[in-house]
Amino acid sequence: MTRRELILSSAALSAAAAAAQSNGSGKTVSIASGNGINATARAVEMMKAGADTLDAVIAGVNINEDDPDEHGVGLGGLPNEEGVVELDASVMHGPTRRCGAVASIQRIKNPSKVAKLVMQETDHVMMAGAGALKLAKAFGFAEDELLTEKSRLAWMVWKKSLRDASGHNNWTDGLDAPVKASAQLKKMFPDVDEKTLAWAWQMAVHPIAGTINCLGLNAKGEISGVTTTSGLAWKIAGRVGDSPIIGAGLYVDQEVGGAGSTGRGEENIRISGGHTIVENMRRGMSPTEACLDACKRVARNYDNDNTRLKAIGITFYALRKDGVYGSANLWKGGQFAVNDGKGPSRLENCAYLLG
Ligand code: ASP
Repeated sequence: MTRRELILSSAALSAAAAAAQSNGSGKTVSIASGNGINATARAVEMMKAGADTLDAVIAGVNINEDDPDEHGVGLGGLPNEEGVVELDASVMHGPTRRCGAVASIQRIKNPSKVAKLVMQETDHVMMAGAGALKLAKAFGFAEDELLTEKSRLAWMVWKKSLRDASGHNNWTDGLDAPVKASAQLKKMFPDVDEKTLAWAWQMAVHPIAGTINCLGLNAKGEISGVTTTSGLAWKIAGRVGDSPIIGAGLYVDQEVGGAGSTGRGEENIRISGGHTIVENMRRGMSPTEACLDACKRVARNYDNDNTRLKAIGITFYALRKDGVYGSANLWKGGQFAVNDGKGPSRLENCAYLLG
């Protein structure tokens, strides 16, 4: 290439970049569920450095997936009722309008990366169980034991706290009353320290919902998203939630924006939350209004009966192509993570339907 050609081609590239820029808001933004402070920071840092929006959000949630102390996602996720960790994830790439998902995959700590593999390397959109694991291994993914000692303990406490109609449990040493006090637990787990035991009891009784949904928008207006989870703790083996369902746990439309959800997936699947929110935004609702509408649809499915809705925790997140974002929780009190490209990530309060 001559010097003149080089100057011309760089000029053409800058013109193309400027044209692309004019399609976007010039804002670099990432939002995520409340556990996404680090994920959004990493996603924005990578997008600013020129990374693809999907690579950026996946790298963001990999922080959560790799953390053994995060018990709703990846390594250390709480297992199914048989003590096996089964993970779900989905990805959607706005610019190419492609997507991929994995459901019930075992032994791979980064299901978000396997979801991208399904998108990129196969002619399919969704793979499950043993087939998804085979695909990941074919592409060099390493298998890991995802059940950590802490998660195993929480699972065991849960098993020992179950009772049949006569108050019996085969997993306890002849105790016939429901486990309540830590003294009883201490007898069952003499080698475990009080603090860990208290944590395990909390996990057994009120397992955390630790899914992460992360959406990313770059200055050119390109947008992508990812959702990854270990699903509901103590689920029946093979249960699949909303996280890997394109249109429920995640949806992105390059023309409009992206949306995702965390919480009780069964409710989200019933309303196709991700798709509903994006379509709401297409018709003119703000991201917050669009998320609140999804909450209303969940409530309507229970005839707005608050006594039944009390048992449901669910949150929606939305990021519009112009950088405006929002989130809504069914109940008051939730927070979500935001990085607007101007500094560190922060938590903002979710709007809510029921107080
Ligand atoms: N949405 C996830 C699922 O239903 C769980 C969660 O977010 O806590 O699998």
